[in-house]
Amino acid sequence: MLSYRHLYHAGNHADVLKHLTLCLMLRHLNAKDKPYCLIDTHAGAGVYELRCAEAQKNLEFQSGVERIADCKALMQSVPEYYEVLHKAYQRSPSCYPGSPYFAASLSRESDKLWFFELHPRDEQSLFEQFRQDPRITVQRRDSLAALKAILPPQPRRGLCFIDPAFEEQNEYYEVLKALKSALKRWNTGIFALWYPVLGRLRDYSKNLRSESRRLNVPLLQLELRVSAQGEDLGMCGSGLLIYNYPFGLEKELSSVLQILKPLLCSRDGLTELNVLVPQP
Ligand code: SAM
Repeated sequence: MLSYRHLYHAGNHADVLKHLTLCLMLRHLNAKDKPYCLIDTHAGAGVYELRCAEAQKNLEFQSGVERIADCKALMQSVPEYYEVLHKAYQRSPSCYPGSPYFAASLSRESDKLWFFELHPRDEQSLFEQFRQDPRITVQRRDSLAALKAILPPQPRRGLCFIDPAFEEQNEYYEVLKALKSALKRWNTGIFALWYPVLGRLRDYSKNLRSESRRLNVPLLQLELRVSAQGEDLGMCGSGLLIYNYPFGLEKELSSVLQILKPLLCSRDGLTELNVLVPQP
């Protein structure tokens, strides 16, 4: 499990999709004065230096963040994303911010943030970045188990961002199990679960989708496939399932997907947005 290092993938199309979505969800939370909490269950290292050997190995950022860097339409529809990118560039012009960096940058003084990360090096990096920030708790702990202890959170408004590596098949089952129990403890929380779309023989995302639908909470699903799905090849795209999604988020995401499609997808790629369970 701890063999996964996000540094190899930082800034790729999946990061672009999940971080744009995160920015929009934070926009909704920021729209009210009331404080909220943000729980990042699989936080990673916080910020990634793209010049390092790991990121240079497959140059995944070239088919992700590099392709949207100058996109005016996206700058207009999600300016928050670019604000955070530019803030990170002050540290190093060749770095890419991770989900905790987006969350810490876009939340307010009154909000409370929890970052969980199991890998010792990444957890150390998070700790060093955020130790001066009194809003933030960083823990090296299995977040799926930790959710039982910390939910429902204080404040009760908020978002739980779940971004596992899905390196092993049983992770799908474990994540769903944790999510079901988390939704029982915190039935008003927004939960966003990222998932990969792998080759047909290893693609468990449909199952994730059908099981999620059965939870019977408002559910939005979006997907971006940068190429056609093969049989047993690697990741051709990714998506997010958003439980208790904020009102109006589907419209914003739909326009973001429209902008992303020609920039990130080949001719046989696709984007999809579905309200799987509508709001009451
Ligand atoms: N969310 C990050 C971002 O957007 O920048 C990327 C996270 S990466 C896909 C997944 C991370 O989860 C890895 O750094 C891995 O070490 C960590 N991880 C895996 N299982 C975990 C668990 N049960 N609890 C906490 N962290 C875990």
